[in-house]
Amino acid sequence: MTTLKAVRGTRDLLPAETGLWNRIEATARQVFARYNFGEIRTPVFEDTTLFARGVGEETDIVSKEMYTWEDRARAQSEKTQSLTLRPENTAGVVRAYIEHKLGETGQLQKLYYIGPQFRRERPQRGRYRQFSQIGAEVIGPVSAGSESPLRDAEVLEMLATLLDELGISGWVLKLNSVGSATDRPKYIETLRAALLPVVGQMCPDCQRRAETNPLRVLDCKVAEDQPFIDALPKIADSLDQASRDHFAQVCAALDAAGVPYERDHRLVRGLDYYTRTTFEFTHGGLGAQNALLGGGRYDGLSELIGGPKAPGIGFAMGEDRLVLTLQALESTKITLLDTKIDAYIAPLGEAQNPAALQLARELRRQGLSIELGDGSFRLKKSFEAADKVARAIILLGEDEAQSGILTVKQFSSGMQTKVARADLAAHLTASRI
Ligand code: AMP
Repeated sequence: MTTLKAVRGTRDLLPAETGLWNRIEATARQVFARYNFGEIRTPVFEDTTLFARGVGEETDIVSKEMYTWEDRARAQSEKTQSLTLRPENTAGVVRAYIEHKLGETGQLQKLYYIGPQFRRERPQRGRYRQFSQIGAEVIGPVSAGSESPLRDAEVLEMLATLLDELGISGWVLKLNSVGSATDRPKYIETLRAALLPVVGQMCPDCQRRAETNPLRVLDCKVAEDQPFIDALPKIADSLDQASRDHFAQVCAALDAAGVPYERDHRLVRGLDYYTRTTFEFTHGGLGAQNALLGGGRYDGLSELIGGPKAPGIGFAMGEDRLVLTLQALESTKITLLDTKIDAYIAPLGEAQNPAALQLARELRRQGLSIELGDGSFRLKKSFEAADKVARAIILLGEDEAQSGILTVKQFSSGMQTKVARADLAAHLTASRI
């Protein structure tokens, strides 16, 4: 029989790694709470139309990367429906915002999510077919201030804080404005005209994009194309006064908060729904897939998918890439070493097994992490097993069970102490530091 393996582009995360994932998620939740964000969980699959409308038919994601299937009808009354595993979460959040009439509260909605997304991309380091995103959206009626440049700056400042608190140093914030829904088509026309005389000398991808989606030419990484791209008109020159003012205010607030950024004229992002502010945080440690996160403003998205006017701004961070970055940073390796549990209980003889479970229950209920050995093990084997997983070993023989005085050995110091059962939890907790 052939051995079954995880599907190409997907992976298992084993306990040695999930500790870091959990730490990242816990830090993100704490930071989001401090900025008054609440969690939203949307379904993993949605009606395909949501992504076609919300992400854009012309995008790489919708045109070639989605996992889409025709869902069978279970009864004659049911119709078949085209469903898609979500390739990103913003469209789902905005659909939920519309469906639950969150705009009618009159409040700004600050929502975050953590969960898997699916794209049929060519897998490589930092790029998977199932990957996890941590993202957030600020969305609401205009009267709640959803268009304010202060919201953009606050989201960016929050991201800078989150990356700092995760221990990711050396990030770069790249910032641009793609203008309003009217600026963008104007720029696309300018770009198309400027590409016409030169595109014949550019790569086949650019030749295709110049036809279908000229903005994507700005993403081209082919070295020979760079001089042509650098000479193309910049989107900044096509922005109307309102978009320029908005961007200037985002920059002024970031300057005041002391968040460093770089203007990147080529940052137009892959999704069609972006308006005005677009941004990316990159990190040198990631190699080719150097984007840690990306996002921007999407003032017309709600209307695109049939909702009321609800401007918003959001981002999605690649959790897989946060993990890769942290694994590469020395500081994490040190904290990761310290993942041992508090103690290992070694019953000295099978007769002590029930008493060992009782002691383990007592300590675990007091918040300690405990592994339980077996009385059939020889002492040497117990010590070896304990040393691998725990900071201390507790020996539980007949004497200990009767006297209530236990022998505890700390592996780091090699010190062996007699501890009264009532003091055991405090003793083990104190040795954590
Ligand atoms: P996007 O939704 O394309 O704006 O992507 C936002 C972030 O998600 C990127 O900056 C990456 O960190 C991450 N990301 C996107 N696609 C993938 C993928 N296939 N594998 C891993 N991470 C991804």
